[in-house]
Amino acid sequence: MEEVSIFPIISLKPEVTNYLKGVFLNKEVLAASSHKEAERRFQKLLSCLSHPPSYTCVRASTHLASLEEIKRKLEEELKKQQMCGSSAEEVQVQILPHPCIPDVLLLPVIGPRHVKQLSSELVVGAQCGSAVLRGAHVFAPGILASPKYMKPGDVVSVYSDLEGKCTRGATSFQGKKVFVGNGVAQMARASIFTDKPPKGIGVQMVEPLYQSYSFDGVLPSLVFLQNLPSVVVGHVLAPRPGERILDMCAAPGGKTCHIAALMGDQGEVVALDKIRNKIDKICQNAKLLHLHSIKAFCFNSVQAVSEDLAQETEGPPFPPESFDRVLLDAPCSGLGQRPNMANTWSLKEVCSYQPLQRKLFHTAVRLLKKGGVLVYSTCTVTLAENEEQVAWALDTFPCLSLQPQEPHIGAEGMLGAGLSPEQLRLLQRFSPELSWDQMNTAAPFHCRADRDTIGFFIAKFLKN
Ligand code: SAM
Repeated sequence: MEEVSIFPIISLKPEVTNYLKGVFLNKEVLAASSHKEAERRFQKLLSCLSHPPSYTCVRASTHLASLEEIKRKLEEELKKQQMCGSSAEEVQVQILPHPCIPDVLLLPVIGPRHVKQLSSELVVGAQCGSAVLRGAHVFAPGILASPKYMKPGDVVSVYSDLEGKCTRGATSFQGKKVFVGNGVAQMARASIFTDKPPKGIGVQMVEPLYQSYSFDGVLPSLVFLQNLPSVVVGHVLAPRPGERILDMCAAPGGKTCHIAALMGDQGEVVALDKIRNKIDKICQNAKLLHLHSIKAFCFNSVQAVSEDLAQETEGPPFPPESFDRVLLDAPCSGLGQRPNMANTWSLKEVCSYQPLQRKLFHTAVRLLKKGGVLVYSTCTVTLAENEEQVAWALDTFPCLSLQPQEPHIGAEGMLGAGLSPEQLRLLQRFSPELSWDQMNTAAPFHCRADRDTIGFFIAKFLKN
């Protein structure tokens, strides 16, 4: 059997690859660095997008217990759990508090490891495959193809379907797929492919390509799995107890809950999302984390301001200048998400977000009080949704000025949108492609953890 350790680069439509290449090799970049260096950075980006970050980040509920206590409890819980893929010997649990972010714990991810592929193949959807690479087991709804006579206890090699071409219920698949590890079937094939959607774990991963913990059901009110840049957003917004905050695009509510926790649950956090069933998820998360200051509404945030209203309203729409701080964690092309082995979007889809983000931005500025803070963030790497939006906002709203961010652990903004060096320094771009080769091994662990994240962007504005 073949041994696999090398991963492919992210698979994109050629038109999207060319577009992104144009972004990373734009005129301003090429005037400041060599073509070779810019090309290398771009290739590195494509390569690291398909891998998971090298640390798992959990946000600790420091509004409920001290970081030290949560760390200790987490250690105890994870010791009980055999580290996914390791042998039965005592597992050393390494949990590292982030030195500058008081509610972050980091756990190293090991991989890619050399894992032998077996002859029994099971294929999962790309989303499920990415979750497996981040430490999850295979949940039954994610399974697309399995061996014909699979029964509980069978050992299978798990592959992720790269192009979304595998038919549900197939017994084999010859299309583009990538190996994500070996596991033990928990269900028979017949219970997976039924008329009713199956529930529960379909395959327990025992030899994943990337070894990390499964946080499913682990200390649910004390630890919350969240990408490091997303935790940074809450701190950059810096909400204070007693304030009224608007989170315009809130579901599933990771940042909403963080904001409420940072305020000690004192004040009001209004969470909007336009998709109704996602509102339930925000409420579930708030309940799980014992947060009472969150009010969630299903609403199109573009229409969340009404000039006709003179008095404060509890739900949307709101009169202008209703909020002390606004978070616009915008819907975006999501090209910074990791691991992402395949993206089947067309260029039109990738480029479709800028107009919506601008409409939301207009509403955000109107709803913000004078002297208030607006944070704009995305989990994508394009200029059009990041630095270009900042340049447009500064041009369109003379009342806005860029503010320094605390903490600022990512890189500065990228050249290409005509922003000055001072302006770029005020932006925070998490650029995983800048991580690996620029880290010498003597660098403290958090330097690598801070850079080897999902691709993300944060801008902070003050309304004067
Ligand atoms: N802030 C969230 C968190 O940290 O958990 C993630 C938000 S996600 C990047 C963007 C969200 O915006 C999606 O849940 C989507 O349903 C929502 N959305 C898209 N268009 C919207 C609109 N016009 N009004 C309100 N929400 C919208």
